[in-house]
Amino acid sequence: MSRRLRVDWPRCSAHGLCHELLPEVVGLDEWGYPVVGELPDDLVELARQAVTACPTLALRLVDVPAR
Ligand code: SF4
Repeated sequence: MSRRLRVDWPRCSAHGLCHELLPEVVGLDEWGYPVVGELPDDLVELARQAVTACPTLALRLVDVPAR
C-alpha cells in the first residue's frame, strides 16, 4: 500500500500553497490548479503538512494499492 494526494476539485480555489510546500510532487496547471504526481514514501510527512495547510481543506492523503 502506498499513499497519494487527492484533490477535492470543487473545494480547491487554486491558492497554489500545496505546490509551494511540495513542489517535488505538486505542479500547477496554467490556471494555477494542482497537478499531483506520485508521492514517494519519504515525502509523506511533508504531504501531510500540505494537507493541513490547504486553506480550503481540498487536499487529502489516501491509501492506494501498490502496483
Ligand atoms: S492548497 Fe488547497 S486550495 Fe490551494 S491549490 Fe492546493 S489543493 Fe487547491
